[in-house]
Amino acid sequence: MSTITADHNGKPIVPNHPTIPFVEGDGVGSEVTRSMLRVVDEAVKRAYDERRSIRWKEVLAGKKAYDQTGEWLPKATMEAFRQYLIGIKGPLTTPIGDGIRSLNVALRQGLDLYVCLRPVRWFEGVVSPVKRPQDVDITVFRENTEDIYAGIEWDANTDKAKKFLCFLQEEMGVTKIRFPETSAFGVKPVSREGTERLIRAAARYTIETGRKHLTLVHKGNIMKFTEGGFKRWGYELIQREFAAELNNGTLIVNDCIADAFLQNALLKPEAYSVVATLNLNGDYISDMLAAQVGGIGISPGANINYTTGHAIFEATHGTAPDIAGKNMANPCSLILSATMLLDYIGWSEAARIIEKALAHCFTQGKATADLARFMPQGKPLSTSDFTQELLSHITL
Ligand code: ATP
Repeated sequence: MSTITADHNGKPIVPNHPTIPFVEGDGVGSEVTRSMLRVVDEAVKRAYDERRSIRWKEVLAGKKAYDQTGEWLPKATMEAFRQYLIGIKGPLTTPIGDGIRSLNVALRQGLDLYVCLRPVRWFEGVVSPVKRPQDVDITVFRENTEDIYAGIEWDANTDKAKKFLCFLQEEMGVTKIRFPETSAFGVKPVSREGTERLIRAAARYTIETGRKHLTLVHKGNIMKFTEGGFKRWGYELIQREFAAELNNGTLIVNDCIADAFLQNALLKPEAYSVVATLNLNGDYISDMLAAQVGGIGISPGANINYTTGHAIFEATHGTAPDIAGKNMANPCSLILSATMLLDYIGWSEAARIIEKALAHCFTQGKATADLARFMPQGKPLSTSDFTQELLSHITL
């Protein structure tokens, strides 16, 4: 058996030689994926000898899929991610005018991957715009399926906008729309179920990793029922399901208004450990935190359904067409996403080996050009030379 399955809590049950599907990705995808596969294989070998290994299975999505099958996201790819539970993918091009808004969104929706997980930490040697980037060690649980991202909106001056306006004014008694005739409208659905499953996952993660502090970030002072609901349902869930952990001090929960959080996270980032937040706040927060550690181009991410166990780990940058095929791309975002994957399947020894090797490279100023150019002793390396350098620290 080489298929990862999930137990009744959604926790992966992992054989010693699991099959893991990967999508190479478009643009720089093939370069960063090649690097990631070599690094992960080497680290797994170093950690477990021959006892464990990953059987990589390439599945198609994006341009490569379109060229070979005529489809941007073939059914077989969706099926593979469903069947093998866990996968990893490089960046994907967004097809223009093909009925698919975004392949990433289609994958997330298809598997109901309701958590966007973004851990943010600093690596010594990486140049950061703040004085103490080492104080940033924050994991963001961003809700992935609701909020203003639901895509329910109507452009100004359309029949649907007029119909919606009419409904608001005539049936709902709304009088506060400042310029009704020229307004576009968007709907922000936030549910108790959606909130609870996100905050439950964040609370469990906080307890299991010994991180203790969970902060609910919201704009409940202004949007009382959507963002305010998120806060209220969150606290109610914590009281109901985590009373023991609250009592024994393994879980401490507080909340913070989103704008204050952005300020605090810059001024005293050590006050935060795990953050749970809605979709739009999460978008801003994860990018700001990543910038704080100088890692906007190397930040990892994953989309996870903690109930079924399904997870797709991914490079958070785009396809970088300007440098594609030039052996210049930085593979670190995908490599660090792979370390998240290794942690997720419980192969943390291999994950730590990779992180140590990365730290070695960065402290010596060895990095791809995008990072090395800011390092005082920076030595810009090509993707393949940087990979080789990393491998040399892994096989030591
Ligand atoms: P897409 O349309 O796929 O989002 P994009 O070029 O608009 O592509 P990104 O791919 O995120 O957006 O690239 C933004 C900038 O960051 C580009 O200059 C690109 O070269 C650079 N960049 C992105 N990823 C990497 C990487 N892995 N290594 C080095 N530079 C990168």
